[in-house]
Amino acid sequence: MSHVIIVGAGLSGAVIARELAEAGHTSQIVEARSHIAGNCHTERDPETGVMVHLYGPHIFHTGDTEVWDYVNAYAEFVPYRHRVLTKIKRGGADEVFAMPIHLSTINQFFGTHMSEAEAEAFVTAKADSTITDPQNFEEQALAFIGVELYEAFFKGYTIKQWGCDPRDLPASILKRLPLRFTDDDSYFNHPHQGLPRHGYTPMVAAMLDHPNITVSLNTPYDAATHKGDHVFYSGPLDGYFDHKLGRLGYRTLDFEKFTDTGNYQDIPVMNYGDADVPFTRITEHKHFAPWEDHEGTVCYREFSRLCGVDDIPYYPIRLVDEKALLTEYVTMAEATPGVTFVGRLATYRYIDMDVCIREALDLARGFLESGTAP
Ligand code: FAD
Ligand code: UDP
Repeated sequence: MSHVIIVGAGLSGAVIARELAEAGHTSQIVEARSHIAGNCHTERDPETGVMVHLYGPHIFHTGDTEVWDYVNAYAEFVPYRHRVLTKIKRGGADEVFAMPIHLSTINQFFGTHMSEAEAEAFVTAKADSTITDPQNFEEQALAFIGVELYEAFFKGYTIKQWGCDPRDLPASILKRLPLRFTDDDSYFNHPHQGLPRHGYTPMVAAMLDHPNITVSLNTPYDAATHKGDHVFYSGPLDGYFDHKLGRLGYRTLDFEKFTDTGNYQDIPVMNYGDADVPFTRITEHKHFAPWEDHEGTVCYREFSRLCGVDDIPYYPIRLVDEKALLTEYVTMAEATPGVTFVGRLATYRYIDMDVCIREALDLARGFLESGTAP
């Protein structure tokens, strides 16, 4: 039996620890923060009692039925369809639209009453058909929806969120969002969508609740102290190598909390599309638990900025011209024996919770089959 070191008690680390523990291996998880669950950590707001997604809104959605069954084994999930509104200024007044772009957004924006087929033909005619192989976010948007919808709903928001010209961002970021010509205003397409009734942190705690797993909080990884037969590392990729080739770019978030009574915005997430509004969105957390009853309400205004040395990294930026540096770090990671790089930060990819769980399960299984991780 092996004893492994797992760096990070987020979803990636927790799934690996659990899979290995079930097979008889022991692990020590070292976690720099004072809590488990990484960026999907939830806790009750002390003022209002509302369950808060402390690092930003997290909705579980997946097309992977095994992953869905996996999370349901550790937490009770309540069915939930995520809906988002976005506010932009038009003709000097605020106007609110439903996101992602679908039939009602299109008709409201263009002042039309088109059918599904008409809207599809209309937007296809607006899209830039000369862009056949979009190389960046802006090209993808122009090829997808045309300049008016892009400039109203994506340009300003994306500049705020990523702090750079959308032409410097990969096209894949935009592909996260659906474009529909139907009345369906769900934010996600996946068949399985839900929220854990008691938040994500109890779910991760249940995964970690095994005699073969030890968790050390407030403990940054130190290779000289934390010794095992193998290391699974879920921290930032460049951080593992002490940034010796330079820093990969991450965005961090600042949250400005405010409380109120009753209901602030009727919806969990309101995006703010205009570049001159300094925050990207407001999350009203009580709408993630409509089955609970709270008099008060707590909202977070979300501000995005470049991640500094002492900040928590949230989003890998993956600038188009950062590819060479990333490739060098990936090559170094692949050439590091006894260490497997796992999760959103260590693989430097914008991946959702379900993908983290899928990849962690596959890595753990590979380790169990071969004695070493793939
Ligand atoms: P993390 O959760 O980042 O965990 C890594 C852990 O490692 C952290 O706890 C960190 O403290 C620890 N660590 C790092 N370095 C060290 C070190 N040197 N020593 C010790 N510990 C260390 N996904 C969805 O599916 N749906 C959503 O709606 C969604 N919304 C999101 C919203 C935001 C604002 C963000 C930022 C992400 C969102 N995600 C969402 C993605 C989701 O958060 C991630 O996919 C998932 O939580 C990543 O898990 P992880 O374990 O790989 O990384
Ligand atoms: N986006 C945008 N306007 C919106 C919503 C999203 O421009 O109203 C862009 C933005 O660049 C964002 C990306 O689409 O980073 C993906 O959106 P998603 O909702 O997946 O972002 P997340 O919730 O992961 O921050």
